[in-house]
Amino acid sequence: MDYLSRRAREIAPYTAGEQPADRKYVKLNTNENPYPPSPKAQAVLQAFDAGLLKLYPPLEAEALRGAIAAAEGVSPENVFCGNGSDEVLALCLPAFFDEDGAGAAFADITYSFYPVFCAFFGVPYTQIPLEDDFTLDLAKLTAAKAQGVFVANPNAPTGIGIPLAQIEPFVRENGGRVVVLDEAYMPFYGQSAVPLTKTYKNLLVVKTFSKGYALAGMRCGYAIGDAALIQGLCRCRDSFNSYPVDSVCQAVCAAAIGDGAYYAEKNALVVSERERLGRELAARGFFVLPSQANFVFARHAACGGREVYKQLRARGVLVRHFAKPRIADFCRITVGSREQNDALLSALDAFLKNG
Ligand code: PMP
Repeated sequence: MDYLSRRAREIAPYTAGEQPADRKYVKLNTNENPYPPSPKAQAVLQAFDAGLLKLYPPLEAEALRGAIAAAEGVSPENVFCGNGSDEVLALCLPAFFDEDGAGAAFADITYSFYPVFCAFFGVPYTQIPLEDDFTLDLAKLTAAKAQGVFVANPNAPTGIGIPLAQIEPFVRENGGRVVVLDEAYMPFYGQSAVPLTKTYKNLLVVKTFSKGYALAGMRCGYAIGDAALIQGLCRCRDSFNSYPVDSVCQAVCAAAIGDGAYYAEKNALVVSERERLGRELAARGFFVLPSQANFVFARHAACGGREVYKQLRARGVLVRHFAKPRIADFCRITVGSREQNDALLSALDAFLKNG
């Protein structure tokens, strides 16, 4: 401990979803896609020339950025790639926020990495309480004193989406500062604000290959925005790690994003399973928030959130519980394949009936 900086000693790191190895679990705790990556992406991985790995990856990831730009309808100069969208979001702090500035603002219940990034980069932050129904009153975020704001759409862990029709006026009204829109779960909602980045120079949309492209193990995320914002991210990246996206990742992700038809089909299955899961949970006494993501956030009428988590875990099903004010009664359950969801429902029946 003696050798550590004050920062290393005092930070409270983000807690990722558990990955226990004591037995095989039905893993519904980290919002992974239940389906495999596109066959085209798999073929690129299998054909990859390992001899190329003696070289550093293409510095500007031109081919990958080109593929992303084509899929998103923007220019490559509007695309920034990182080692997971977590890294892209983290780089937003040094790129758009001063340590002695007005800080960042975001909801009290949202992706819990935002306050961790702020603390790590020494940026102050304000948390805006969600309404009682867990929706975000965007006017309250607009009114917050801040150098920039973060909004996850759909939000996590609630799953609630904000219609694009509300996002546009919000971005306009926040014209004097950066709006970071985290669209990690947008493939399950389909109201991306990427087209607005052409009009609004303050908007940065952050996306990931982890959820909608079934490539969480690859670690790739990207941002889309005005070239000046992208340059800011590049300056920070190049002051930290110039090659965050490896050669294999660049090739596989480029193939994945080029196979939109495959993912549209698989993600539609996730969405229809989400609706079924919501109905089945409601039939078992759960209150389920309306979700536009690939998970549901649910509270049982009689059994507490921690207890649901523990009982499911004992039966080989992992879900996520957050021991936090306002949401401790809930569990966040990833929408799995039909078989995984059925396993979850049977596990629930086993103890909810007995209890
Ligand atoms: N944003 C949100 C809202 C998330 O839930 C996650 C996943 N934990 C991420 C970003 C980061 O995903 P990744 O780093 O895998 O791209």
